[in-house]
Amino acid sequence: MAKTYDVLVVGAGIVGLATAYRLLEKRPSLKLAVVDKENRVAAHQSGHNSGVIHSGIYYRPGSLRARYCISGYKALLPFCDEQGVPYEICGKLIVATREAELPRLEAILQHGRANGLAGIRRIGPEEARAIEPNVRTVAALRVPQTGIMDYVALAEAYRRLIESRGAQVLLGSAVREVRRNHRLEVIAEDRTIRTRLLINCAGLYADEIARLTLPGHGWQILPFRGEYYSLTPEGCKLVKHLIYPVPDPDFPFLGEHFTRLIHGGVEAGPNAVLAFAREGYHRTIVNWRELAGTLTYPGFRRLAVRHWRQGLMEQYRSWSKPAFVRQLQKLVPAVRSEHLQPGGAGVRAVLCSRKGELSDDFVIEEGPAVVNVLNAPSPAATASLAVGQHIADRALTQIGD
Ligand SMILES: Cc1cc2nc3c(=O)[nH]c(=O)nc-3n(C[C@H](O)[C@H](O)[C@H](O)COP(=O)(O)OP(=O)(O)OC[C@H]3O[C@@H](n4cnc5c(N)ncnc54)[C@H](O)[C@@H]3O)c2cc1C
Repeated sequence: MAKTYDVLVVGAGIVGLATAYRLLEKRPSLKLAVVDKENRVAAHQSGHNSGVIHSGIYYRPGSLRARYCISGYKALLPFCDEQGVPYEICGKLIVATREAELPRLEAILQHGRANGLAGIRRIGPEEARAIEPNVRTVAALRVPQTGIMDYVALAEAYRRLIESRGAQVLLGSAVREVRRNHRLEVIAEDRTIRTRLLINCAGLYADEIARLTLPGHGWQILPFRGEYYSLTPEGCKLVKHLIYPVPDPDFPFLGEHFTRLIHGGVEAGPNAVLAFAREGYHRTIVNWRELAGTLTYPGFRRLAVRHWRQGLMEQYRSWSKPAFVRQLQKLVPAVRSEHLQPGGAGVRAVLCSRKGELSDDFVIEEGPAVVNVLNAPSPAATASLAVGQHIADRALTQIGD
């Protein structure tokens, strides 16, 4: 017998669960389910990220990323206090290592101020070394708001709350088909689920789920793996908080950094290399269907022609530990190869248009009885309560608030 819901959320990552939480907060009587193909929540991007609470300093003022990050941050800390989700506000340094990076450092400072961040300031090398004794810099930004947290624990907290409000979290059920009758009929493994509204928060597969209801949409998700090294106990002594380089405005997700973890230890990374499978957490994992989909997508080919040099450099650093170490030594010269041991990896969903343009902001598109979250880039974990609120508002408008 098919079960019937008011709202079905596809994807039990942090965005899908936060959306469900916000929906039930506003409309407790809603019949709601969240479905995921994995047997646990936060199995992909949400459970493989850097664990950083972003301040919002980087994002273009007025962009959705800036707005969601700032308001999501404000909502996140009281939520974590209330729910016992571990976090720490430890601050970070954004470090210019060459004079040529100073104008970009200044632009980031201005973005931060325009985004309303109090207390951020530019500091000189001496003050930077008082905070991070091993850093090399010509000037740095001190961002006191940045923190670290356990995003899997956050996702578990959302899950607990929505289940306590009567929602069902259906794990181990991959959505394969959506039929339109007078309700939507969603086929997930051997379940048939009827729903008035479907919210697609499928992360790395959001474009494929969107195609089930909007066959003509031209977007494609390109998977970029971010690989980390863990610092040995000796290496951990070199880093006190978080140390980031000045990002390249064309590739803001590039730029290996040092991140202290909430449960102890320090990670260095991630890089960004094309993954040969959407869930290709290691370079040996290949999904031929998905790889062919990437390589034959006109947007990917255009991107590759424009940025092949950058792409090759990232591949080289992925294979060559000395090259990775040299990159890190620009920030912390004392770090040595023997301080680094292989760490985890995450795969980032990067939304690309047929013209080869990468979306750097949230992309949420609606169709009849459907809300598709096509792009939920970093800082979606930090911003999950704000993004979830926005998606929930749009969903409630569709089903009649
Ligand atoms: C390497 C890396 C580092 C990052 N660092 C940070 C950071 O420090 N701070 C920060 O704020 N953000 C960070 N981010 C961004 C943040 O983690 C993501 O934006 C966020 O987790 C996206 O959440 P999501 O719920 O949209 O996607 P996901 O967490 O990927 O969830 C999507 C879910 O959909 C499910 N799914 C897919 N297809 C189907 C299907 N057919 N049927 C059923 N279920 C399906 C998947 O199993 C998955 O559980 C980082 C991301 C990466 C990859």
